[in-house]
Amino acid sequence: MAESAPCVFCRIVEGEIPCFKLHEDPRTLAFMDINPFHDGHCLVITKAHAENLYAADEADLAAAIAVAKRLAIAVNQVLRPDGINLVQANGAGAGQSVFHFHFHVFPRKLNDNAQFNWGHKPGDMARIGELAERIKRAMP
Ligand code: AMP
Ligand code: ZN
Repeated sequence: MAESAPCVFCRIVEGEIPCFKLHEDPRTLAFMDINPFHDGHCLVITKAHAENLYAADEADLAAAIAVAKRLAIAVNQVLRPDGINLVQANGAGAGQSVFHFHFHVFPRKLNDNAQFNWGHKPGDMARIGELAERIKRAMP
């Protein structure tokens, strides 16, 4: 992507910014969200920079949804949430804050009243790191 517009997820792909990595393959990268709404909140991104769903390559999308399924199974096994949403935002009005395609694997609790614009509260990095190890091990 253009050097004039550094993208935080491209920088994670390049290894310039650290992440709690869960999975990597030629098309996708998955890592923990550092501002989790609930424990186990994680992200699958396309390695190739695409701003949103409209721009993303279809083979990259297919790879990303397959990884999202495996992550959801792992998060469900490790954390036993009351449910999991897959969330994917396109545009600021949809709550998108990082303009590089990603799915959220978004664990839910009954009556948590989560809203699309849930806000970003920094998580406990030690806790996120510990969960990353457990989720990685549980991935089918
Ligand atoms: P969205 O608001 O749908 O674009 O989601 C972007 C997500 O990326 C948010 O949930 C942020 O907490 C998350 N995020 C931003 N920077 C980082 C980072 N360096 N490592 C992990 N997650 C991040
Ligand atoms: Zn990017």
